[in-house]
Amino acid sequence: MSILKNYINGDWQNSTSKETIDVVNPADQQVLAKVPYGPNTKNDVAEAVIAAQKAYREWSKVPVMKRVQVLYHLKSLLEENSEVLAKIITDESGKTKAESFGEIQRAIENVEVACGTPMLMAGDVIEDIATGIDEMMIRQPLGVTACITPFNFPSMIVFWFLPYAIATGNAFIVKPSEKVPLTMMKIFEFIDQLDIPKGLVNLVHGGKDSVDALLEHPDIKAISFVGSTPVARYIYSKGTANGKRVQAQGGAKNPVVILPDSDIEMSTKIIADSVYGCAGQRCLAASTIITVDDQQREVKDALYETVKSRTTGYGWEEGVSMGPVITPESKTRIEGLIQKGVDEGAQVLLDGRNTSISGFENGNFITPTILENVALDKELIRTEIFGPVMSLISMATIDEALSFVNSGDYGNMACLFTGSGANARRFRNEADAGNIGINIGVAAPMAQFPFSGWKDSFFGDLHGQGKHAIEFFTQTKVIIERWPNIWSRKF
Ligand code: NAD
Repeated sequence: MSILKNYINGDWQNSTSKETIDVVNPADQQVLAKVPYGPNTKNDVAEAVIAAQKAYREWSKVPVMKRVQVLYHLKSLLEENSEVLAKIITDESGKTKAESFGEIQRAIENVEVACGTPMLMAGDVIEDIATGIDEMMIRQPLGVTACITPFNFPSMIVFWFLPYAIATGNAFIVKPSEKVPLTMMKIFEFIDQLDIPKGLVNLVHGGKDSVDALLEHPDIKAISFVGSTPVARYIYSKGTANGKRVQAQGGAKNPVVILPDSDIEMSTKIIADSVYGCAGQRCLAASTIITVDDQQREVKDALYETVKSRTTGYGWEEGVSMGPVITPESKTRIEGLIQKGVDEGAQVLLDGRNTSISGFENGNFITPTILENVALDKELIRTEIFGPVMSLISMATIDEALSFVNSGDYGNMACLFTGSGANARRFRNEADAGNIGINIGVAAPMAQFPFSGWKDSFFGDLHGQGKHAIEFFTQTKVIIERWPNIWSRKF
C-alpha cells in the first residue's frame, strides 16, 4: 500500500519519516492508505516553511485583485469535482453522501467570500488629520501561516482559513488530521493546478510531532487550529508563548432548550437532525435537550418517533441517514459514556450500543441513543460525548434552563425552540455561547460571519471565516505623513 506524500514547494514529496499509521474506512475497517507519522515529520515541516517563506516574498507583492483570481479557479475545480471529493469524505470519515456534499458546499462558500478580499482588506485614510498631515491604516500579510485541523470535517474546516490567508498575501501550510488526510490529498491536486508560486500552499502530514514543529518554527507567524479543547488549549498557550498569532477552536457540549410554546413536531425533527447528523461528531451537534414546564412526555414521545426511524449504515448507500463513528476506540469510548450515564442514574430510552449493520459488521456503528433524566450533578452532563447520544432533561422554568445553559464549561452553541419573540430575544441576549440558534438546530455561521465560540470552546480573539479571517491574516500598519502646508486645501 502506498504511503501518502507531502505537497511541498509545488511537488509531491516523500516524507522523511518512515513511520506510518493507517487511514481506515470507519464503515468496514478497510485500510485506505498509510500516512507519515512520528518525530521525523518535523523535517517535513522545516522544508515546507523554507518553500513557503520564499513563495511569500513573491506572492505578497502580487496585487490583491490578481491574487483572488486563483480563488475563482479553485472554486470551479471544487465544484467540478464535488462528487469525487464527497466519496472520499464519506469513505475516510464515515459521513453520509448528503453530509459530504454539504461540507464541500460550505468550503466553496468560504472561497466565494474570500474573493471579496479586495474590498474586505481595504484600510482607512484621514486626509489633513492636522493641517498638512495625513494618516492612514493599511493591512499587510503576516508571512507564513498554518492550520491544523480535526477529523470531522476533512474539507470544510481548512477553508475557514486557507482562501483568506492566500487572498490577503500570506503563504500557507495545511496539517490535516492524520485520520482523514485523503480529502486534502485530492484538494491539493486542484491546488497544484493554480497559478501560484511554488511553495505558496503546502501539505504536511503527521500528528503531534508535525504540530509541535509548526508551533516551534520561528518563521511561522500564525496558527489556526480546530480540534478538541485540551489540544486547543495546548496549541494556544504554546503558540502564543512562541510569539505567534493563534486562533484555536475547541470542543463543545451544546444545550438546546425547547419551550412549551414551540411547534413540537417541527422542533423535534430539527433537534434529531442536530443530535444525530454526522453521527453526533459535529462541534455544533445538540447534546443536551432541556424541556421546560410539564411537556417532557410529549417531547420525549415525538423525539422517540423521529429518532427510531433513522437508518444507520455505510454513508454512501441510498437511504442511510447516519454513518459510523470515526474509530473503534471512539465507539468504545462513547459506549462507555452511555454506561456512565446509566450508572449515574439516567434511563436509556433508546440504546444504540451493540449494533451490527449487515454487510458492515466490522464498522464502528452506534445507532441513535436517547438517555433520559441524566443526573445534573454528575460528570456525563458536562462531558463532550461526540457521538449519537441525546441527553434529555427537564426544568421547571426558562430561568432555570438559562442558568443551566450558562453553567457549562463550553460555549460553542446554545439553541432555543419557541414561538415567543420575547423569550427568543432574552435567550439570544443572555445565553453564554458564541453561536445561538432560535428555532435552528445547528447554528453554523455562514462564511460571511465568524465561526464563533466562547469559553472552553475557543482560545484567541479572532475566529475563522469572513471579516475575522481577513483581520487574523493581516497586520495593521498606521502611516502618518506631513506635507507642506501649501499642499493642504485652502478655503
Ligand atoms: P483532536 O484535538 O484530537 O485533533 C485535532 C488536530 O490536532 C489533529 O490534526 C491532530 O493531529 C492534532 N493533535 C492531536 N493531539 C495532539 C497533541 N497532543 N498535540 C498536538 N497536536 C495534536 O480532535 P479530533 O478528534 O480530530 O476532532 C474532534 C474534536 O474537534 C471535538 O472535540 C470537536 O468538538 C472539535 N471540533 C471543534 C470545532 C469548533 O469549531 N469548535 C469544529 C470541529 C471539531
